[in-house]
Parts: sequence; C-alpha cells; structure tokens
Amino acid sequence: MRTREGDGAMERDAESKLYEGKAKIVYATGEPGVLRIEFKDDATAFNGAKRATIAGKGELNREISALAFEELEAHGIPTHFLGRLERRSMRVRRLEMIPVEVVVRNVVAGSLAQRLGRPEGEALARPVVEFFLKDDALGDPWINATHAEALGLASAGEMRQAEALALRVDEVLVPWLLERGLRLIDFKLEFGRDAGGALVLGDEVTPDTCRFWDAATGERLDKDRFRRDLGDVTGAYREVLRRLEEARA
Ligand code: 5GP
Repeated sequence: MRTREGDGAMERDAESKLYEGKAKIVYATGEPGVLRIEFKDDATAFNGAKRATIAGKGELNREISALAFEELEAHGIPTHFLGRLERRSMRVRRLEMIPVEVVVRNVVAGSLAQRLGRPEGEALARPVVEFFLKDDALGDPWINATHAEALGLASAGEMRQAEALALRVDEVLVPWLLERGLRLIDFKLEFGRDAGGALVLGDEVTPDTCRFWDAATGERLDKDRFRRDLGDVTGAYREVLRRLEEARA
C-alpha cells in the first residue's frame, strides 16, 4: 500500500518498526525507500549508564534537526531528510548506514579535553575530524579511516568523502548558528549509502549530538546539561529552537 502524506491511519497500517535506538525509533513505511523516524523524549549518557525521560525533547529535536537538514540541503549537502510528519517524526530516505561516528571539533571539549589534557573552551586552529566505531558494547572506540577500510565498514574513498562532507557541514553550520548567537563547539554525524551507493548524511543534527554554547555567555545549550546535571535540559533545547525559528521569521 502506498503511503499518503497526511493520512496518519494509513501510514500506521503500512508501518513496521525496523529499529529502536536510545533516542529514536525507525519505522518502515508503505512507501519503498522511505522511512519514518520518531524522536523520543528519552535521553541516555555514558553509554546508557545514565537515563532519563525529558518531556518535550523529541518534538524539539525533530524540529531542530529538520531546520539543520534544510540548511545543509540548501547548500548542496545531501541528507536523508524528506519532510516533517506530525509532532515528533520526520520522513527520511532509507540508507544503508555505515557504523562509524564522524565527529568534527572546532573547540576543545568533552572527550578530547580528557584525552589530550587540554582545557575545555580552547579554540582549535583548524577543525579536527575524528572517527569512532559505533559499538555500544565497546563504548564507541576511536578508530581511523584505515580501520574502517580494513574492517570492511567503508571504502577508503567513502571515508575520504565522509571527512570532506563533515567539514562542509561544519562550514555551513558554524556561520548559520553564530548569526543566531550559538557557537558550534563540536558535533557527531552518521553517513549512509543511498540506493545508488552515494554517500548521504543520515541520523540527526540536534543538541543531543552537537555542543552548542551561547556565543555571548558560554552557557551550554545542549546535552551536556543532562550529562553534567546542569538542569533545565528542555529549556536549553527550546532556546536553541527559538533562535533558529526567530531568525527565519
Ligand atoms: P565527545 O567525544 O566529546 O564525547 O563528543 C563530541 C561530540 O560528538 C559532542 O557534540 C557529542 O554530543 C557528539 N557525540 C559523540 N558520540 C556521541 C554519541 O554516541 N551519541 C551522541 N548523541 N552524541 C555523540
């Protein structure tokens, strides 16, 4: 059965759950090559050791990610985003995901601060790209592109392309966010292959997967509020969305 947009009942009839992760559920729709992603209110940190439900997070993350994907598409970066569905969901292209997390860093924070013993907030002279194997049981270990190639996760060409695309994403998002009073400290991307084998940005771009600091005060407006018990997680995510929407109006 073909899915018709706007007909929720029909969509549900044809749907089946493909995968449930920590922050999202992926459904097959009746439409070939199209999935529905539902953003959950659940939050986890430290590889699932810390868990909570944060009311409203799913809806906020769906919209923040939709706006980010639209901005990236407008700059010619291929993403899986196809459109919004009701409340906490979006329509996306089905991809064959590559189990590698691609992290881009503009400023020292988080695990880089710990690993290299540098203070959080130190600006990096150029963006740094890092790869991590997506494997909860191993705690997402740091790998390089030759590991990905040797383990058969992605070709050398795909890893080069993932790095180049990640740096392009950084180039687009840094000024877009700065105009809205947000400093993009670092972020994590995931890529997949479309039906033709081309590399496409998947997953999400949200305060769960990016560090956003208020450009004026340095206040953290991202998941570090949850990880570090800084309070008012929903308020911070709502503030990110407010700034993105305000600039559009
Ligand atoms: P770090 O390596 O400092 O923990 O994370 C660097 C950046 O990538 C942060 O913006 C962080 O939110 C994001 N990141 C890295 N790994 C993960 C992950 O497994 N899940 C999520 N949600 N974000 C991640």
